[in-house]
Parts: sequence; structure tokens; C-alpha cells
Amino acid sequence: MQIADHISELIGSTPLVRLNAVVPSGSALVAAKVEYLNPGGSIKDRIAKKMVDAAEAEGLLKPGGTIVEPTSGNTGVGLALVAQQRGYKCIFVCPDKVGQDKIDVLRAYGAEVRVTPTAVAPEHPDSYYSVSDRLAAETPGGWKPNQYENPNGPASHYESTGPEIWEQTDGEITHLVAGIGTGGTITGTGRYLKEISKGRVKVVGVDPEGSVYSGGSGRPYLVEGVGEDMWPGAYDPSVPDEVIAVSDAESFAMTRRLALEEGLLVGGSCGMAVVGALRVAEREPDAKIVVILPDGGRGYLGKIFDDEWMASYGFTSGEEDTTTVGDVL
Ligand code: PMP
Repeated sequence: MQIADHISELIGSTPLVRLNAVVPSGSALVAAKVEYLNPGGSIKDRIAKKMVDAAEAEGLLKPGGTIVEPTSGNTGVGLALVAQQRGYKCIFVCPDKVGQDKIDVLRAYGAEVRVTPTAVAPEHPDSYYSVSDRLAAETPGGWKPNQYENPNGPASHYESTGPEIWEQTDGEITHLVAGIGTGGTITGTGRYLKEISKGRVKVVGVDPEGSVYSGGSGRPYLVEGVGEDMWPGAYDPSVPDEVIAVSDAESFAMTRRLALEEGLLVGGSCGMAVVGALRVAEREPDAKIVVILPDGGRGYLGKIFDDEWMASYGFTSGEEDTTTVGDVL
């Protein structure tokens, strides 16, 4: 019988699907790796499991311990489902730009959630980095995975995401395109694909305009889960061959198109990554591109998929591309 012993065993082995309607004709093949099909709904399940396994092996996390992490939601879900299996408590610290629905999901898994202001510097005592450091130190048995610095984040992608993509494309992939948040995905997956292809696979990072990875000053942007105002240790900037900056407006318009035209209800960082992938696809029509879609769209229904929210920031709805005048008849 094919029955997993626990939901956390079903992390990884996500499928690739061809993008069709959003890819202009004459462009390259673009295949999306659909990470919302992980049990916790995002790519972060992969690093959660690996970081917990390593912490147990190193004696950093002991029975009855508490996992304390600054997370915008996805890493928290992954950690929460692994913690559930192994009897750990979880305290997550989220910046206030994160949607209420994402916070509610963490609480539904039994985690405690502390919300901190987005608009303070990382070294400020109220920043989500500082608050999580303090809680990890104060809580007995507390352990902070620190996805921004933990080498097991990139290692999980080197061991799982990279090999999966290589096998799924029969080694024919020419370009990996991925957003950069902690940098773990692009560092681990990109490093593996470059090594196995002996440098043939090109790695393209995608970043919100304003973030440091594409040369910005760290000014705010609305897309969640990607971009930074500092350089995390999980990111090896020598792995990407280039980093493309994409605006919030373009990211959100493409996110809506992915649902409407491809049947893919995904998050804003997915729209952002696809915009980057399409730039490569138009420039290099013979390429075989894999773009990583980190999470699903349900956590963004009140934002990217809400016309009023979009209009309040001056973004168009994204539906203009598919509706012709007179459609209502
Ligand atoms: N998109 C979303 C929605 C995320 O939560 C994350 C993780 N922060 C990423 C993209 C980026 O992944 P990574 O941290 O591995 O760079």
C-alpha cells in the first residue's frame, strides 16, 4: 500500500507544467515548477524539514523544544507541520505587511504569532529579526532556524529541488529562473544545476525593484517573500549569472494572468519570477527555461486578486489583457 506515515514525508517531488498563454509566440519553452503542491503549500516546506533534521542531529533542538523564527508565513507553515510530527512548539514573528490570512493559517497549525512593524531597520529592537532573536534567547529550549543564514536552506534545494529539475527535464534545461528572498532557493538549486551541467545551465535571479539583489537601496515594495534590504548568508551572489528587477505592477498583473490564463492560482513572487522568465524567453527563443513558482494564491485573495486593493496602490486589475470592449454582450 502506498501510504505515507506523515504528511511531512510528502514534501518535494513537485511537477513541472508548461506555460502557454502568457508566453509570447516565438519565445522559448517555459516550464513552471509548481511548489504550491507541497503539503504546506509552498517551497519552504523543503527547507523547514532539512533545517529541523539538521538541528536535531546537531543537538540544537531537543524534545519539547520551541522553534522561534521570523517568517512571512510560508517557512512557518513548513516548520509547523514538521513540529507537529515531532512535538515541538512554534513561535513565529511576522512583519505587518503580511496578509491576515497567512497569519491565521499559522495560528490554525497551533503556532503563536507575533506581528512587528515593517517600517523599521533590521537592527531596530522592534524589527522582526530583533524580536525573534530576543524570543529565541528567552524561551527555554528555544531554537531559531534562521533561514536567512542557515546553510541547510540552500542545502535542501541542492539535494532536492535541483536534482528533481535535472531529472524532469532529462538534463535539457538551459536556464533556471527564480525569485530571491533568503536566496536559498536560487543558491542551492542553481549551484546543483551548474555543477551537474558543467556550467551550461544559466541561473537568472528575479528581484523586486528597490531590493538590494538587483542594485536597489532596500526601498519598500509590496510583493511578499522576495527581495531584501540586507545580504543574507543563505544567498551566494556568485551563483546567479544575472539578476532582473521587476516592478510590483508587472508582478501583480502577471500573477492575475497566471490564474486567468493558465489555471495557476499562485502568489505575487510567482508572477514576478514569470515576468523575469519571459524576458529570458523572448531574448533566447531556443532556451528551455524552468521557473520556480514558490507558493499558491489563496493567501493573497484580499490583496493581488482584490480590485479595490490593487486600485488603492494605483495598479490596474490585470484583466485588461483578456477582456475586449463589448464582452458584456
Ligand atoms: N516567494 C515566496 C512567496 C517566499 O515565501 C519565498 C521565501 N522567502 C521566496 C519566494 C524566496 O525563496 P528564497 O527564500 O529561497 O530565496
